[in-house]
Amino acid sequence: MKENQRLKQARDLLTDYVRMKGMRMTPERIAILEAAYVFDTPFTIDLMKEYLDHVYPVTRQTVYNNLELFFQIGIVMKRPIGSGAVEYETCFLTQTHHHLVCKSCGQIFEFKDSSIEPFLAQKRYKQFKMTNCAVVIYGLCKKCQGKINRERRKQQAKIEKQTNKNKNR
Ligand SMILES: [Zn+2]
Repeated sequence: MKENQRLKQARDLLTDYVRMKGMRMTPERIAILEAAYVFDTPFTIDLMKEYLDHVYPVTRQTVYNNLELFFQIGIVMKRPIGSGAVEYETCFLTQTHHHLVCKSCGQIFEFKDSSIEPFLAQKRYKQFKMTNCAVVIYGLCKKCQGKINRERRKQQAKIEKQTNKNKNR
């Protein structure tokens, strides 16, 4: 995906979230988001602050608050780099849909769950850099659950009939 497209989608996501929470989409927020996409590699708060000092000076606290917000939404990843410091990196785990797969009939349903992406964004896998993710959940669809329940009841009725017959003998 092109960088500017990723930024646009991240901005849309942030705008929606901010609106939903009744917060304001401040110019600082936009400047910090755009700056995050300038960095191609992981960055620290200090590095981000240093960069912003040239383009849109804000306090370190503002940088921190916004990066934490981005992390919560899943726009950036965060990892500890020792002695309490962390580094951030943009990621694109947003706009993802996941799948529910019925084990019985094989039907696939799409679903969205915005709590999954931020959770997976903080995961680290050895010698593997995650760019996005999709979760597959296996189970039984409503139709198949009904079918299985009906068959179970039928089976149960058969057994009961047989038992009664044996009793009456
Ligand atoms: Zn099914």
